[in-house]
Amino acid sequence: METKVLLPTKDNIKLVGEALRNGNIAALPTETVYGLAANALNGSAVKAVFEAKGRPMDNPLIVHISDFEQIEKFKLARKIPEKALRLAEKFWPGPLTVIVPKGEGVPDEVSAGLDTVAIRFPSHIVTQAVITAAECPLAAPSANTSGRPSPTAALHVLHDMNGKIPYIIDGGCCEVGVESTVVTVAKEQPVLLRPGGITLEQLIGVIGEVAVADAVLNKMQEGQKAESPGMKYKHYAPKANLVLIKSTLDKYIDYVNSRKSSDVGALCYDEDVPGLEVAAFPFGSRNDYVQQANRLFDSLRKIDETDLKLIYGRCPDTNGAAMAVYNRLIRAAGFEVIELA
Ligand code: AMP
Ligand code: MG
Repeated sequence: METKVLLPTKDNIKLVGEALRNGNIAALPTETVYGLAANALNGSAVKAVFEAKGRPMDNPLIVHISDFEQIEKFKLARKIPEKALRLAEKFWPGPLTVIVPKGEGVPDEVSAGLDTVAIRFPSHIVTQAVITAAECPLAAPSANTSGRPSPTAALHVLHDMNGKIPYIIDGGCCEVGVESTVVTVAKEQPVLLRPGGITLEQLIGVIGEVAVADAVLNKMQEGQKAESPGMKYKHYAPKANLVLIKSTLDKYIDYVNSRKSSDVGALCYDEDVPGLEVAAFPFGSRNDYVQQANRLFDSLRKIDETDLKLIYGRCPDTNGAAMAVYNRLIRAAGFEVIELA
């Protein structure tokens, strides 16, 4: 199959919208990462998304809408808890996914058989326009091959999906750069299942207490049940072995330089670059968590284009917007952290 990369013109949005309505799949830009979309009401279209990504069928997809009324119109939710309404009012359209009891309009392929469904109203104008042109909600995971870093540019999508999907809409680089924050309000106690562009602190500011699922910051134990199916899968593992270093700038640089070799690289902050004697892949300024989130996946993909065998990465903070960066990097590193005293 030829994969066409299209600019987001009016005609192309109409073309892709119609293709999606009729059961085809297509990659779209969103403000978080590129998504691989299918008509969320069509089980066999949704299946094609799992196949193109090589995604395990038990990992449910997020349903994307372009108007709050679509939740009721397409019977996406059995009920909308009051806390979901408050979150939607504050953060939609935007990078927040809310999990609510599933409605009868959602096929089992989307929710992987769960009785809940993940819903998001993206803020990206092109995503909204395509959903509106498709006249149906779109189920979309990130448009990468399963296990690879999520795509934050159309070229990333082309790299993973060339020949597997008919269309990619190129909307430039994604603004947030990590996947949406996922919070469940399906039960009494809201739980943060995945940190993203909307921070834990922001959620708490709107709905009060929000628990953090253990697997957000910690390695899941053998036999532990995942509160969100995606948590149990290995994510974003680079080809090289990635080890995170928790330390000050000076100690990080000394540690890495003392292990200098042509096999070694550094996934570091911008400020580290001048001092490093190995190949450096900076992903943002030390205290600019938003920028780190924005550049992280691109840096991981750049590392994958090399033959480096061992990467020493900076261990991010866990507060505010840094939690999303930490959550992705700690998985990429297989939870391997060295703390320098
Ligand atoms: P992705 O589409 O690749 O951004 O991944 C979506 C994430 O949301 C995955 O980690 C899923 O496991 C999670 N998710 C989707 N639907 C649900 C649900 N109903 N309950 C819990 N987690 C969900
Ligand atoms: Mg994904």
